[in-house]
Amino acid sequence: MERTLSIVKPDAVGKNLTGAILEKIEGSGLQIIALRRVLLSQSQAEAFYAVHRERPFYKSLVEFMTSGPVVVTALQGDNAIQRYRDLMGATNPEEAAEGTIRKLYASNIENNAVHGSDAPETAAAELAFFFRDLDYA
Ligand code: ATP
Ligand code: MG
Repeated sequence: MERTLSIVKPDAVGKNLTGAILEKIEGSGLQIIALRRVLLSQSQAEAFYAVHRERPFYKSLVEFMTSGPVVVTALQGDNAIQRYRDLMGATNPEEAAEGTIRKLYASNIENNAVHGSDAPETAAAELAFFFRDLDYA
């Protein structure tokens, strides 16, 4: 069993796509074991995406991620990290495979509907960013 962090980003939340995306997640067999809706502050978004702080899109990404509420979930299942990355599809929706969340719901490479952790170390850090042990059920 493995855990990963998913975020439904402000573009998708703003389009009332939270339920559709959570349905895709559950339909894939991954289990939602914790869930929060939050409006990130600028410093929280900067910290969450600190790994990208030298990238040209960092400021814009932080603005986007603070532009409205996000819905954060902890997902659990066998090989959950890679399974959720596959379900999300490529960062750029133009390159995302048919049936993936980003192909269905992303607008462009920045407003791309969802986030998913990319490795066991980042999953552990990102889960701890949003959840405490008591939140998992
Ligand atoms: P995420 O980390 O959100 O799951 P990812 O791992 O597919 O996405 P990253 O390379 O980690 O992609 O980029 C983080 C986020 O930054 C992307 O999901 C997207 O919102 C934004 N982003 C990435 N590349 C660009 C770009 N070239 N221009 C604008 N925004 C970008
Ligand atoms: Mg990433």
